[in-house]
Amino acid sequence: MIWSAALEILLQNKCDFLVIGSGVAGLSYALKVADFGQVVLISKRSLDESNTRYAQGGIAAVWSPEDSPDSHVNDTLVAGAGLCRRETVEKVVREGPIRVQELIDQGVTFCRDEPNGDFDLGREGGHTERRILHARDRTGEEIVRALVERVRENPNIEIRENCMAVDLITGSWLARRKEELPPYPDVVRGAYVLSLETHVVDVFSAKIVALCTGGAGKVYRYTSNPDVASGDGMAMAYRAGAHLQNMEFVQFHPTCLFHPKAKRFLISEALRGEGGKLRLGSGKRFMERYHELAELAPRDVVARAIDSELKKTGADCVYLDMTHLEASFLRERFPVIYGRCADMGIDIASDPIPVVPAAHYFCGGVATDLHGESSVRNLFAIGETACTGLHGANRLASNSLLEGVVFAHSAAEAACERLGELECLDLPNWDSGKAVDSDELVVIKQTWEEIRTFMWNYVGIMRTTRRLKRARHRVQLLQEEIRNYYWDFRLTGDLVELRNLAQVADLVVESALARRESRGLHYTIDFPHSDMRWVRDTELRKRT
Ligand SMILES: Cc1cc2nc3c(=O)[nH]c(=O)nc-3n(C[C@H](O)[C@H](O)[C@H](O)COP(=O)(O)OP(=O)(O)OC[C@H]3O[C@@H](n4cnc5c(N)ncnc54)[C@H](O)[C@@H]3O)c2cc1C
Repeated sequence: MIWSAALEILLQNKCDFLVIGSGVAGLSYALKVADFGQVVLISKRSLDESNTRYAQGGIAAVWSPEDSPDSHVNDTLVAGAGLCRRETVEKVVREGPIRVQELIDQGVTFCRDEPNGDFDLGREGGHTERRILHARDRTGEEIVRALVERVRENPNIEIRENCMAVDLITGSWLARRKEELPPYPDVVRGAYVLSLETHVVDVFSAKIVALCTGGAGKVYRYTSNPDVASGDGMAMAYRAGAHLQNMEFVQFHPTCLFHPKAKRFLISEALRGEGGKLRLGSGKRFMERYHELAELAPRDVVARAIDSELKKTGADCVYLDMTHLEASFLRERFPVIYGRCADMGIDIASDPIPVVPAAHYFCGGVATDLHGESSVRNLFAIGETACTGLHGANRLASNSLLEGVVFAHSAAEAACERLGELECLDLPNWDSGKAVDSDELVVIKQTWEEIRTFMWNYVGIMRTTRRLKRARHRVQLLQEEIRNYYWDFRLTGDLVELRNLAQVADLVVESALARRESRGLHYTIDFPHSDMRWVRDTELRKRT
Protein backbone atom coordinates (compact mmCIF):
# COMPACT_ATOMS: atom_id res chain seq x y z
CA MET A 1 0.00 0.00 0.00
CA ILE A 2 2.78 2.40 1.06
CA TRP A 3 4.76 1.36 -2.02
CA SER A 4 1.88 2.05 -4.37
CA ALA A 5 1.35 5.53 -2.83
CA ALA A 6 5.07 6.24 -3.24
CA LEU A 7 4.96 5.04 -6.84
CA GLU A 8 1.96 7.25 -7.59
CA ILE A 9 3.85 10.28 -6.29
CA LEU A 10 6.91 9.30 -8.31
CA LEU A 11 4.76 9.15 -11.43
CA GLN A 12 3.18 12.55 -10.80
CA ASN A 13 3.30 15.09 -13.60
CA LYS A 14 5.74 17.81 -12.61
CA CYS A 15 6.77 20.85 -14.60
CA ASP A 16 8.07 24.37 -14.26
CA PHE A 17 5.13 26.00 -16.05
CA LEU A 18 1.61 24.66 -16.29
CA VAL A 19 -0.32 26.53 -18.98
CA ILE A 20 -4.09 25.98 -19.03
CA GLY A 21 -5.64 26.94 -22.37
CA SER A 22 -4.43 27.32 -25.94
CA GLY A 23 -5.86 30.56 -27.34
CA VAL A 24 -3.70 33.54 -28.23
CA ALA A 25 -2.81 34.02 -24.54
CA GLY A 26 -1.82 30.44 -23.73
CA LEU A 27 0.06 29.80 -26.97
CA SER A 28 2.02 33.08 -26.78
CA TYR A 29 2.89 32.63 -23.12
CA ALA A 30 3.93 28.96 -23.57
CA LEU A 31 6.30 29.90 -26.39
CA LYS A 32 7.92 32.60 -24.26
CA VAL A 33 8.45 30.58 -21.07
CA ALA A 34 9.61 27.49 -22.98
CA ASP A 35 13.05 29.13 -23.34
CA PHE A 36 13.45 28.98 -19.55
CA GLY A 37 11.91 25.69 -18.39
CA GLN A 38 9.72 22.68 -18.99
CA VAL A 39 6.17 23.56 -20.02
CA VAL A 40 3.00 21.48 -19.95
CA LEU A 41 0.24 23.03 -22.09
CA ILE A 42 -3.20 21.57 -21.55
CA SER A 43 -6.21 22.28 -23.69
CA LYS A 44 -9.79 21.18 -23.29
CA ARG A 45 -10.23 20.19 -26.92
CA SER A 46 -7.75 20.33 -29.80
CA LEU A 47 -5.02 22.93 -29.55
CA ASP A 48 -6.66 25.11 -32.19
CA GLU A 49 -10.16 25.35 -30.67
CA SER A 50 -10.67 28.62 -28.81
CA ASN A 51 -12.37 32.01 -29.04
CA THR A 52 -9.17 33.22 -30.68
CA ARG A 53 -9.78 31.00 -33.67
CA TYR A 54 -13.07 32.74 -34.49
CA ALA A 55 -11.83 36.35 -34.18
CA GLN A 56 -12.86 38.07 -37.37
CA GLY A 57 -11.99 41.77 -37.25
CA GLY A 58 -8.32 41.82 -36.27
CA ILE A 59 -5.81 43.10 -33.76
CA ALA A 60 -5.46 46.79 -32.92
CA ALA A 61 -2.01 48.44 -32.81
CA VAL A 62 -0.60 51.86 -33.57
CA TRP A 63 1.11 51.21 -36.87
CA SER A 64 0.58 54.06 -39.29
CA PRO A 65 2.47 57.38 -39.04
CA GLU A 66 -0.88 59.22 -38.95
CA ASP A 67 -1.82 57.36 -35.77
CA SER A 68 -0.44 57.91 -32.26
CA PRO A 69 -0.36 56.00 -28.96
CA ASP A 70 -2.19 58.89 -27.29
CA SER A 71 -5.05 58.49 -29.74
CA HIS A 72 -5.32 54.71 -29.14
CA VAL A 73 -5.12 55.29 -25.36
CA ASN A 74 -7.86 57.88 -25.58
CA ASP A 75 -10.19 55.70 -27.68
CA THR A 76 -9.76 52.85 -25.19
CA LEU A 77 -10.49 55.11 -22.22
CA VAL A 78 -13.60 56.54 -23.88
CA ALA A 79 -14.98 53.04 -24.58
CA GLY A 80 -14.21 51.95 -21.00
CA ALA A 81 -16.63 54.54 -19.58
CA GLY A 82 -14.46 55.67 -16.68
CA LEU A 83 -13.37 52.27 -15.39
CA CYS A 84 -10.17 51.54 -17.36
CA ARG A 85 -6.94 51.45 -15.36
CA ARG A 86 -4.89 54.09 -17.12
CA GLU A 87 -1.48 52.48 -16.53
CA THR A 88 -2.74 49.22 -18.06
CA VAL A 89 -4.09 51.04 -21.10
CA GLU A 90 -0.81 52.93 -21.57
CA LYS A 91 1.18 49.71 -21.24
CA VAL A 92 -0.93 47.72 -23.72
CA VAL A 93 -1.03 50.49 -26.31
CA ARG A 94 2.68 51.35 -26.09
CA GLU A 95 3.94 47.73 -26.09
CA GLY A 96 1.31 46.66 -28.64
CA PRO A 97 3.27 47.21 -31.85
CA ILE A 98 6.31 45.28 -30.48
CA ARG A 99 4.14 42.28 -29.59
CA VAL A 100 2.33 42.40 -32.92
CA GLN A 101 5.73 42.41 -34.65
CA GLU A 102 6.57 39.28 -32.63
CA LEU A 103 3.43 37.61 -33.98
CA ILE A 104 4.59 38.46 -37.48
CA ASP A 105 8.03 37.02 -36.64
CA GLN A 106 6.29 33.82 -35.50
CA GLY A 107 4.79 33.53 -38.99
CA VAL A 108 1.41 35.28 -38.74
CA THR A 109 0.52 36.86 -42.09
CA PHE A 110 -1.60 40.02 -41.99
CA CYS A 111 -3.11 41.48 -45.18
CA ARG A 112 -1.17 44.13 -47.04
CA ASP A 113 -2.25 46.82 -49.49
CA GLU A 114 -1.57 45.70 -53.03
CA PRO A 115 0.17 48.80 -54.47
CA ASN A 116 2.60 49.78 -51.67
CA GLY A 117 2.93 46.61 -49.57
CA ASP A 118 2.06 48.37 -46.28
CA PHE A 119 -0.35 46.64 -43.94
CA ASP A 120 -3.97 47.15 -44.89
CA LEU A 121 -5.13 48.79 -41.67
CA GLY A 122 -8.83 48.53 -40.94
CA ARG A 123 -10.94 50.87 -38.86
CA GLU A 124 -13.60 49.68 -36.45
CA GLY A 125 -16.26 51.27 -34.26
CA GLY A 126 -14.78 53.44 -31.50
CA HIS A 127 -11.34 53.76 -33.15
CA THR A 128 -10.63 57.25 -34.45
CA GLU A 129 -7.81 55.97 -36.68
CA ARG A 130 -7.09 53.03 -38.96
CA ARG A 131 -5.14 50.61 -36.75
CA ILE A 132 -6.58 47.10 -37.16
CA LEU A 133 -4.21 44.53 -38.63
CA HIS A 134 -6.21 41.68 -40.06
CA ALA A 135 -6.21 38.56 -42.21
CA ARG A 136 -9.57 39.36 -43.92
CA ASP A 137 -12.33 37.94 -41.71
CA ARG A 138 -10.07 35.05 -40.61
CA THR A 139 -7.57 36.88 -38.37
CA GLY A 140 -7.96 34.55 -35.39
CA GLU A 141 -7.58 31.45 -37.52
CA GLU A 142 -4.34 32.81 -38.97
CA ILE A 143 -2.89 33.67 -35.54
CA VAL A 144 -3.79 30.24 -34.19
CA ARG A 145 -2.33 28.50 -37.26
CA ALA A 146 1.07 30.13 -36.88
CA LEU A 147 1.32 29.86 -33.08
CA VAL A 148 0.15 26.25 -32.98
CA GLU A 149 2.83 25.38 -35.56
CA ARG A 150 5.51 27.01 -33.38
CA VAL A 151 4.24 25.30 -30.23
CA ARG A 152 4.12 21.86 -31.87
CA GLU A 153 7.75 22.13 -32.98
CA ASN A 154 9.02 23.28 -29.55
CA PRO A 155 10.67 20.40 -27.65
CA ASN A 156 10.21 22.12 -24.26
CA ILE A 157 6.42 22.15 -24.57
CA GLU A 158 4.52 18.99 -23.72
CA ILE A 159 1.04 19.21 -25.23
CA ARG A 160 -1.96 17.57 -23.59
CA GLU A 161 -5.09 17.93 -25.70
CA ASN A 162 -8.59 16.88 -24.55
CA CYS A 163 -7.48 17.55 -21.00
CA MET A 164 -9.54 19.78 -18.77
CA ALA A 165 -8.36 21.53 -15.62
CA VAL A 166 -10.86 20.84 -12.85
CA ASP A 167 -9.47 22.70 -9.86
CA LEU A 168 -6.35 24.54 -8.77
CA ILE A 169 -4.32 23.30 -5.83
CA THR A 170 -3.21 26.04 -3.46
CA GLY A 171 -1.14 26.23 -0.31
CA SER A 172 -4.15 27.00 1.81
CA TRP A 173 -6.09 24.03 0.41
CA LEU A 174 -3.14 21.75 1.27
CA ALA A 175 -2.87 23.32 4.73
CA ARG A 176 -6.58 22.78 5.41
CA ARG A 177 -6.22 19.08 4.59
CA LYS A 178 -3.39 18.77 7.10
CA GLU A 179 -5.13 21.05 9.58
CA GLU A 180 -2.27 23.54 9.45
CA LEU A 181 -2.35 27.30 9.22
CA PRO A 182 -2.69 28.47 5.59
CA PRO A 183 0.27 30.32 4.05
CA TYR A 184 0.08 34.08 3.72
CA PRO A 185 -0.10 35.20 0.96
CA ASP A 186 -1.65 32.16 -0.67
CA VAL A 187 0.30 30.35 -3.35
CA VAL A 188 -0.65 28.01 -6.22
CA ARG A 189 0.93 24.55 -6.34
CA GLY A 190 -0.67 22.85 -9.33
CA ALA A 191 -3.98 21.59 -10.64
CA TYR A 192 -6.19 18.55 -11.04
CA VAL A 193 -6.76 17.72 -14.68
CA LEU A 194 -9.44 15.45 -16.16
CA SER A 195 -8.59 13.52 -19.31
CA LEU A 196 -11.66 13.67 -21.54
CA GLU A 197 -10.43 10.49 -23.25
CA THR A 198 -9.64 8.19 -20.29
CA HIS A 199 -11.86 10.00 -17.71
CA VAL A 200 -9.00 9.81 -15.21
CA VAL A 201 -8.16 12.85 -13.05
CA ASP A 202 -4.40 13.43 -12.84
CA VAL A 203 -2.53 15.75 -10.54
CA PHE A 204 -0.08 18.24 -12.07
CA SER A 205 2.48 19.84 -9.77
CA ALA A 206 3.94 23.08 -11.14
CA LYS A 207 6.08 25.96 -9.97
CA ILE A 208 3.96 28.45 -11.87
CA VAL A 209 0.44 28.14 -13.27
CA ALA A 210 -1.06 30.35 -15.99
CA LEU A 211 -4.82 30.41 -16.51
CA CYS A 212 -5.41 31.19 -20.19
CA THR A 213 -8.90 29.71 -20.37
CA GLY A 214 -10.72 32.52 -22.17
CA GLY A 215 -14.24 33.83 -21.61
CA ALA A 216 -17.60 32.48 -20.51
CA GLY A 217 -20.06 33.17 -23.34
CA LYS A 218 -21.56 29.72 -22.84
CA VAL A 219 -23.24 30.89 -19.63
CA TYR A 220 -25.79 32.58 -21.92
CA ARG A 221 -28.35 30.89 -24.15
CA TYR A 222 -27.13 32.78 -27.22
CA THR A 223 -23.43 33.35 -27.67
CA SER A 224 -20.91 33.97 -30.41
CA ASN A 225 -18.37 31.88 -28.48
CA PRO A 226 -17.44 28.26 -29.17
CA ASP A 227 -18.37 25.54 -26.66
CA VAL A 228 -15.05 25.69 -24.81
CA ALA A 229 -15.86 29.17 -23.42
CA SER A 230 -17.45 28.08 -20.14
CA GLY A 231 -15.60 30.35 -17.73
CA ASP A 232 -13.58 27.49 -16.21
CA GLY A 233 -10.61 29.70 -15.34
CA MET A 234 -12.74 32.33 -13.64
CA ALA A 235 -14.58 29.69 -11.61
CA MET A 236 -11.40 27.81 -10.65
CA ALA A 237 -9.64 31.01 -9.63
CA TYR A 238 -12.62 32.07 -7.54
CA ARG A 239 -12.75 28.71 -5.77
CA ALA A 240 -9.01 29.02 -5.15
CA GLY A 241 -9.56 32.32 -3.37
CA ALA A 242 -8.35 34.74 -6.08
CA HIS A 243 -9.98 38.15 -6.48
CA LEU A 244 -12.32 38.65 -9.43
CA GLN A 245 -13.44 41.98 -10.82
CA ASN A 246 -16.15 43.58 -12.95
CA MET A 247 -18.03 40.42 -13.88
CA GLU A 248 -21.19 42.42 -14.67
CA PHE A 249 -19.65 43.85 -17.85
CA VAL A 250 -20.62 41.35 -20.55
CA GLN A 251 -20.48 42.54 -24.14
CA PHE A 252 -23.35 41.41 -26.37
CA HIS A 253 -22.89 41.41 -30.12
CA PRO A 254 -26.12 42.68 -31.71
CA THR A 255 -26.33 40.27 -34.62
CA CYS A 256 -25.69 36.55 -34.51
CA LEU A 257 -27.42 34.26 -36.99
CA PHE A 258 -30.60 32.76 -35.51
CA HIS A 259 -30.99 29.27 -36.91
CA PRO A 260 -31.27 25.90 -35.18
CA LYS A 261 -28.25 24.59 -37.07
CA ALA A 262 -26.12 27.74 -36.85
CA LYS A 263 -24.76 27.73 -33.34
CA ARG A 264 -22.77 30.92 -32.78
CA PHE A 265 -22.29 32.42 -36.24
CA LEU A 266 -21.58 36.13 -36.18
CA ILE A 267 -23.14 38.48 -38.75
CA SER A 268 -20.60 41.28 -38.97
CA GLU A 269 -21.42 44.93 -38.32
CA ALA A 270 -20.07 45.65 -41.76
CA LEU A 271 -23.43 44.54 -43.22
CA ARG A 272 -25.17 47.37 -41.42
CA GLY A 273 -22.34 49.58 -42.70
CA GLU A 274 -23.46 48.62 -46.23
CA GLY A 275 -27.00 49.84 -45.55
CA GLY A 276 -28.54 46.74 -43.94
CA LYS A 277 -31.84 47.47 -42.17
CA LEU A 278 -33.13 45.79 -39.03
CA ARG A 279 -36.81 44.78 -39.20
CA LEU A 280 -39.39 43.07 -37.03
CA GLY A 281 -41.19 39.97 -38.28
CA SER A 282 -43.89 42.32 -39.66
CA GLY A 283 -41.27 44.00 -41.87
CA LYS A 284 -41.36 47.25 -39.85
CA ARG A 285 -38.08 49.01 -39.03
CA PHE A 286 -37.48 50.02 -35.41
CA MET A 287 -33.93 51.39 -34.95
CA GLU A 288 -34.90 55.03 -35.69
CA ARG A 289 -36.94 54.96 -32.49
CA TYR A 290 -33.81 54.21 -30.46
CA HIS A 291 -31.00 56.30 -31.91
CA GLU A 292 -30.49 59.05 -34.47
CA LEU A 293 -27.94 56.86 -36.26
CA ALA A 294 -30.53 54.06 -36.48
CA GLU A 295 -28.79 50.81 -37.59
CA LEU A 296 -25.39 52.53 -37.33
CA ALA A 297 -25.77 53.34 -33.64
CA PRO A 298 -23.07 51.95 -31.28
CA ARG A 299 -23.03 48.19 -30.75
CA ASP A 300 -24.49 48.22 -27.23
CA VAL A 301 -27.33 50.55 -28.29
CA VAL A 302 -28.31 48.26 -31.17
CA ALA A 303 -28.11 45.20 -28.92
CA ARG A 304 -30.36 46.86 -26.32
CA ALA A 305 -32.88 47.96 -28.98
CA ILE A 306 -33.17 44.44 -30.41
CA ASP A 307 -33.47 42.97 -26.93
CA SER A 308 -36.18 45.44 -26.05
CA GLU A 309 -38.19 44.62 -29.21
CA LEU A 310 -37.84 40.87 -28.59
CA LYS A 311 -39.05 41.26 -25.01
CA LYS A 312 -41.99 43.44 -26.12
CA THR A 313 -43.15 41.24 -28.97
CA GLY A 314 -42.15 37.84 -27.58
CA ALA A 315 -40.56 37.04 -30.97
CA ASP A 316 -37.52 34.75 -31.22
CA CYS A 317 -35.51 37.00 -33.53
CA VAL A 318 -35.48 40.13 -35.65
CA TYR A 319 -34.30 40.34 -39.28
CA LEU A 320 -31.39 42.02 -41.01
CA ASP A 321 -32.49 42.99 -44.49
CA MET A 322 -29.78 43.17 -47.17
CA THR A 323 -32.10 42.70 -50.12
CA HIS A 324 -31.39 46.22 -51.46
CA LEU A 325 -28.00 44.94 -52.68
CA GLU A 326 -27.17 42.79 -55.69
CA ALA A 327 -26.31 39.13 -55.08
CA SER A 328 -23.00 39.57 -56.95
CA PHE A 329 -21.92 42.39 -54.62
CA LEU A 330 -22.90 40.49 -51.49
CA ARG A 331 -21.08 37.36 -52.66
CA GLU A 332 -17.93 39.34 -53.38
CA ARG A 333 -17.96 41.58 -50.29
CA PHE A 334 -19.11 39.01 -47.68
CA PRO A 335 -18.09 35.61 -49.03
CA VAL A 336 -18.05 33.80 -45.67
CA ILE A 337 -21.39 35.17 -44.46
CA TYR A 338 -23.00 34.70 -47.86
CA GLY A 339 -21.82 31.10 -48.02
CA ARG A 340 -22.73 30.21 -44.45
CA CYS A 341 -26.24 31.64 -44.79
CA ALA A 342 -26.68 29.83 -48.11
CA ASP A 343 -25.76 26.57 -46.34
CA MET A 344 -28.67 27.24 -43.99
CA GLY A 345 -31.04 27.86 -46.90
CA ILE A 346 -30.96 31.67 -46.59
CA ASP A 347 -30.20 33.61 -49.76
CA ILE A 348 -29.25 36.96 -48.23
CA ALA A 349 -29.86 38.76 -51.53
CA SER A 350 -33.56 37.86 -51.37
CA ASP A 351 -34.28 36.75 -47.77
CA PRO A 352 -33.88 38.85 -44.64
CA ILE A 353 -31.39 37.23 -42.21
CA PRO A 354 -32.85 36.13 -38.84
CA VAL A 355 -30.61 37.53 -36.07
CA VAL A 356 -30.42 37.81 -32.29
CA PRO A 357 -27.92 39.51 -30.03
CA ALA A 358 -25.50 37.11 -28.36
CA ALA A 359 -23.06 37.15 -25.45
CA HIS A 360 -19.71 37.91 -27.00
CA TYR A 361 -17.01 39.03 -24.57
CA PHE A 362 -16.36 39.17 -20.81
CA CYS A 363 -14.62 42.39 -19.73
CA GLY A 364 -14.32 41.18 -16.14
CA GLY A 365 -12.43 38.21 -14.78
CA VAL A 366 -9.52 37.29 -12.53
CA ALA A 367 -8.04 40.54 -11.21
CA THR A 368 -4.36 40.85 -12.08
CA ASP A 369 -1.51 43.28 -11.61
CA LEU A 370 0.52 44.76 -14.46
CA HIS A 371 2.39 41.43 -14.85
CA GLY A 372 -0.77 39.39 -15.16
CA GLU A 373 -0.39 37.88 -11.67
CA SER A 374 -3.52 37.22 -9.64
CA SER A 375 -3.91 37.70 -5.89
CA VAL A 376 -2.76 34.06 -5.46
CA ARG A 377 1.03 33.99 -5.76
CA ASN A 378 2.50 32.31 -8.87
CA LEU A 379 -0.98 32.09 -10.40
CA PHE A 380 -1.13 34.20 -13.55
CA ALA A 381 -4.27 34.94 -15.55
CA ILE A 382 -3.88 36.08 -19.15
CA GLY A 383 -6.33 36.99 -21.92
CA GLU A 384 -10.10 37.06 -21.67
CA THR A 385 -10.14 35.19 -18.36
CA ALA A 386 -8.31 38.09 -16.72
CA CYS A 387 -9.38 41.55 -15.67
CA THR A 388 -6.30 43.69 -16.20
CA GLY A 389 -8.09 47.04 -16.23
CA LEU A 390 -7.69 47.49 -20.00
CA HIS A 391 -11.37 47.34 -20.95
CA GLY A 392 -13.06 48.97 -17.98
CA ALA A 393 -16.83 48.90 -18.47
CA ASN A 394 -16.74 48.26 -22.23
CA ARG A 395 -14.23 46.77 -24.64
CA LEU A 396 -12.93 48.64 -27.64
CA ALA A 397 -13.10 46.39 -30.71
CA SER A 398 -9.91 44.42 -31.49
CA ASN A 399 -8.21 45.29 -28.21
CA SER A 400 -8.60 41.81 -26.74
CA LEU A 401 -6.18 39.89 -28.97
CA LEU A 402 -3.72 42.69 -28.25
CA GLU A 403 -4.22 42.39 -24.50
CA GLY A 404 -3.52 38.64 -24.81
CA VAL A 405 -0.12 39.07 -26.45
CA VAL A 406 1.00 42.01 -24.31
CA PHE A 407 0.16 40.27 -21.03
CA ALA A 408 1.58 36.93 -22.21
CA HIS A 409 4.91 38.73 -22.50
CA SER A 410 4.75 40.49 -19.11
CA ALA A 411 3.59 37.37 -17.31
CA ALA A 412 6.38 35.33 -18.90
CA GLU A 413 8.99 37.86 -17.80
CA ALA A 414 7.72 37.92 -14.21
CA ALA A 415 7.38 34.13 -14.04
CA CYS A 416 10.83 33.39 -15.42
CA GLU A 417 12.51 35.84 -13.05
CA ARG A 418 11.40 33.93 -9.97
CA LEU A 419 11.56 30.39 -11.36
CA GLY A 420 14.89 29.63 -9.62
CA GLU A 421 13.39 30.27 -6.16
CA LEU A 422 10.49 27.85 -6.61
CA GLU A 423 10.02 24.12 -6.21
CA CYS A 424 7.47 21.50 -7.24
CA LEU A 425 5.73 19.75 -4.34
CA ASP A 426 4.48 16.16 -4.11
CA LEU A 427 0.73 16.67 -4.18
CA PRO A 428 -2.13 14.43 -3.08
CA ASN A 429 -3.75 12.45 -5.85
CA TRP A 430 -7.37 13.10 -6.78
CA ASP A 431 -9.73 11.28 -4.47
CA SER A 432 -12.99 10.32 -6.16
CA GLY A 433 -14.28 8.72 -2.95
CA LYS A 434 -17.32 6.54 -3.56
CA ALA A 435 -18.34 8.29 -6.77
CA VAL A 436 -20.07 6.12 -9.35
CA ASP A 437 -20.88 6.66 -13.02
CA SER A 438 -23.92 8.86 -13.48
CA ASP A 439 -26.91 7.29 -15.18
CA GLU A 440 -28.80 10.59 -15.21
CA LEU A 441 -27.09 12.71 -17.83
CA VAL A 442 -30.43 14.36 -18.46
CA VAL A 443 -30.06 16.15 -15.10
CA ILE A 444 -26.91 17.88 -16.31
CA LYS A 445 -28.52 18.86 -19.59
CA GLN A 446 -31.65 20.20 -17.90
CA THR A 447 -29.71 22.27 -15.34
CA TRP A 448 -27.41 23.58 -18.00
CA GLU A 449 -30.34 24.75 -20.16
CA GLU A 450 -31.96 26.33 -17.14
CA ILE A 451 -28.91 28.41 -16.25
CA ARG A 452 -28.35 29.59 -19.78
CA THR A 453 -32.01 30.52 -20.21
CA PHE A 454 -32.43 32.52 -17.02
CA MET A 455 -29.09 34.23 -17.60
CA TRP A 456 -30.37 35.29 -21.01
CA ASN A 457 -33.79 36.41 -19.79
CA TYR A 458 -32.88 37.92 -16.40
CA VAL A 459 -29.19 38.87 -16.57
CA GLY A 460 -28.91 39.80 -20.22
CA ILE A 461 -28.65 43.05 -22.07
CA MET A 462 -31.24 45.00 -20.04
CA ARG A 463 -31.42 44.21 -16.37
CA THR A 464 -33.70 45.08 -13.47
CA THR A 465 -33.11 44.48 -9.78
CA ARG A 466 -36.16 42.26 -9.64
CA ARG A 467 -35.00 40.03 -12.47
CA LEU A 468 -31.50 39.87 -10.99
CA LYS A 469 -32.86 38.80 -7.62
CA ARG A 470 -34.93 36.13 -9.32
CA ALA A 471 -31.78 34.90 -11.07
CA ARG A 472 -29.88 34.93 -7.78
CA HIS A 473 -32.52 32.76 -6.17
CA ARG A 474 -32.43 30.25 -9.05
CA VAL A 475 -28.66 30.09 -9.23
CA GLN A 476 -28.31 29.52 -5.52
CA LEU A 477 -30.74 26.60 -5.62
CA LEU A 478 -29.01 25.12 -8.63
CA GLN A 479 -25.58 25.49 -7.07
CA GLU A 480 -26.81 23.57 -4.06
CA GLU A 481 -28.15 20.80 -6.32
CA ILE A 482 -24.92 20.71 -8.29
CA ARG A 483 -22.83 20.52 -5.09
CA ASN A 484 -24.81 17.49 -3.96
CA TYR A 485 -24.64 15.85 -7.37
CA TYR A 486 -20.96 16.69 -7.95
CA TRP A 487 -19.35 14.44 -5.36
CA ASP A 488 -21.70 11.49 -5.89
CA PHE A 489 -20.78 10.87 -9.51
CA ARG A 490 -17.58 10.35 -11.41
CA LEU A 491 -16.43 13.54 -13.13
CA THR A 492 -17.24 14.18 -16.75
CA GLY A 493 -16.39 17.24 -18.81
CA ASP A 494 -20.06 18.27 -18.82
CA LEU A 495 -20.36 18.04 -15.06
CA VAL A 496 -17.22 20.11 -14.51
CA GLU A 497 -18.48 22.72 -16.98
CA LEU A 498 -21.91 22.80 -15.39
CA ARG A 499 -20.40 23.55 -11.99
CA ASN A 500 -18.30 26.32 -13.55
CA LEU A 501 -21.21 27.82 -15.49
CA ALA A 502 -23.25 28.01 -12.30
CA GLN A 503 -20.33 29.63 -10.51
CA VAL A 504 -19.84 32.23 -13.24
CA ALA A 505 -23.60 32.89 -13.40
CA ASP A 506 -23.55 33.55 -9.67
CA LEU A 507 -20.59 35.93 -10.01
CA VAL A 508 -22.24 37.90 -12.83
CA VAL A 509 -25.50 38.19 -10.89
CA GLU A 510 -23.77 39.30 -7.69
CA SER A 511 -21.67 41.89 -9.52
CA ALA A 512 -24.69 43.21 -11.43
CA LEU A 513 -26.68 43.55 -8.21
CA ALA A 514 -23.78 45.34 -6.55
CA ARG A 515 -23.58 48.06 -9.23
CA ARG A 516 -26.46 50.44 -8.59
CA GLU A 517 -26.06 52.48 -11.76
CA SER A 518 -25.84 51.94 -15.53
CA ARG A 519 -22.34 52.15 -16.98
CA GLY A 520 -20.78 50.81 -20.17
CA LEU A 521 -22.16 47.36 -20.81
CA HIS A 522 -24.14 47.15 -17.59
CA TYR A 523 -27.60 48.63 -18.13
CA THR A 524 -30.32 48.43 -15.51
CA ILE A 525 -33.75 49.98 -15.91
CA ASP A 526 -33.87 50.71 -12.16
CA PHE A 527 -30.74 52.91 -12.27
CA PRO A 528 -30.64 54.08 -15.91
CA HIS A 529 -27.86 56.68 -15.47
CA SER A 530 -24.18 56.61 -14.57
CA ASP A 531 -23.37 57.85 -11.11
CA MET A 532 -19.98 59.34 -10.17
CA ARG A 533 -20.12 57.54 -6.82
CA TRP A 534 -19.79 54.23 -8.68
CA VAL A 535 -16.59 54.94 -10.56
CA ARG A 536 -14.93 51.88 -9.05
CA ASP A 537 -14.38 48.21 -9.83
CA THR A 538 -16.74 45.56 -8.52
CA GLU A 539 -14.65 43.18 -6.42
CA LEU A 540 -15.56 39.61 -5.56
CA ARG A 541 -13.70 37.12 -3.44
CA LYS A 542 -14.87 33.79 -2.13
CA ARG A 543 -16.51 33.93 1.27
CA THR A 544 -14.61 31.45 3.43
C1 LIG B 1 -16.73 35.34 -33.01
C2 LIG B 1 -15.69 36.17 -32.29
C3 LIG B 1 -15.05 37.20 -32.96
C4 LIG B 1 -14.08 37.97 -32.29
N1 LIG B 1 -13.38 38.93 -32.98
C5 LIG B 1 -12.36 39.58 -32.35
C6 LIG B 1 -11.53 40.47 -33.07
O1 LIG B 1 -11.71 40.67 -34.27
N2 LIG B 1 -10.52 41.09 -32.40
C7 LIG B 1 -10.27 40.89 -31.07
O2 LIG B 1 -9.34 41.48 -30.51
N3 LIG B 1 -11.05 40.02 -30.38
C8 LIG B 1 -12.06 39.36 -30.98
N4 LIG B 1 -12.82 38.48 -30.27
C9 LIG B 1 -12.45 38.22 -28.87
C10 LIG B 1 -11.16 37.40 -28.83
O3 LIG B 1 -11.21 36.41 -29.82
C11 LIG B 1 -10.96 36.73 -27.48
O4 LIG B 1 -11.17 37.62 -26.44
C12 LIG B 1 -9.53 36.20 -27.38
O5 LIG B 1 -9.24 35.42 -28.49
C13 LIG B 1 -9.37 35.40 -26.10
O6 LIG B 1 -8.14 34.73 -26.14
P1 LIG B 1 -7.72 33.81 -24.92
O7 LIG B 1 -6.43 33.20 -25.27
O8 LIG B 1 -7.83 34.57 -23.68
O9 LIG B 1 -8.88 32.71 -24.85
P2 LIG B 1 -9.39 31.68 -25.93
O10 LIG B 1 -8.90 32.02 -27.27
O11 LIG B 1 -10.85 31.52 -25.76
O12 LIG B 1 -8.68 30.32 -25.48
C14 LIG B 1 -9.07 29.65 -24.30
C15 LIG B 1 -8.45 28.29 -24.29
O13 LIG B 1 -8.63 27.68 -23.03
C16 LIG B 1 -9.08 26.34 -23.18
N5 LIG B 1 -9.77 25.97 -21.95
C17 LIG B 1 -10.86 26.54 -21.41
N6 LIG B 1 -11.16 25.94 -20.24
C18 LIG B 1 -10.23 24.99 -20.05
C19 LIG B 1 -10.00 24.02 -19.02
N7 LIG B 1 -10.80 23.90 -17.96
N8 LIG B 1 -8.94 23.19 -19.15
C20 LIG B 1 -8.13 23.26 -20.22
N9 LIG B 1 -8.30 24.14 -21.23
C21 LIG B 1 -9.34 25.00 -21.13
C22 LIG B 1 -9.92 26.40 -24.42
O14 LIG B 1 -10.12 25.12 -24.97
C23 LIG B 1 -9.07 27.33 -25.29
O15 LIG B 1 -8.02 26.59 -25.87
C24 LIG B 1 -13.78 37.71 -30.93
C25 LIG B 1 -14.44 36.67 -30.26
C26 LIG B 1 -15.38 35.89 -30.94
C27 LIG B 1 -16.04 34.78 -30.20
